[in-house]
Amino acid sequence: MQIHRNSSSLLLSQTRYAYRQSLNRWPSLMDIQVGPRIYSCSKCSNHVSLHDDIISKCFQGRSGRAFLFSHAMNVTMGTKENRQLITGMHTVADIHCSDCHELLGWKYIQAYAVTQKYKEGKFILEKAKIVKENW
Ligand SMILES: [Zn+2]
Repeated sequence: MQIHRNSSSLLLSQTRYAYRQSLNRWPSLMDIQVGPRIYSCSKCSNHVSLHDDIISKCFQGRSGRAFLFSHAMNVTMGTKENRQLITGMHTVADIHCSDCHELLGWKYIQAYAVTQKYKEGKFILEKAKIVKENW
């Protein structure tokens, strides 16, 4: 009786272990199969940002919805200017695709309100100007 109980609880813990292992492995397996999820310029397919760098999807761009990214790549920055946005005065610089020069969004250089400081150094990319690639 004692032996039976022990062996069944051992089997159970082994099953749990295997299940946990499969859960742990799942995300990395997905990464290998799918690769990094990239956003590209909608006009020329230049890679401009990574899905993993999205901070927020609830931003307002010039033409509609926009995403806030911690990084952007293959973009050129325009001149800095002060702009009055919904959330107050900011110093921003427009960012363009380095290949086709399409206007993609802007970079926050400085925020004047303390509550908006987290945006400094971050990038707005307009949803309409970027497309998902490789996912
Ligand atoms: Zn482009």
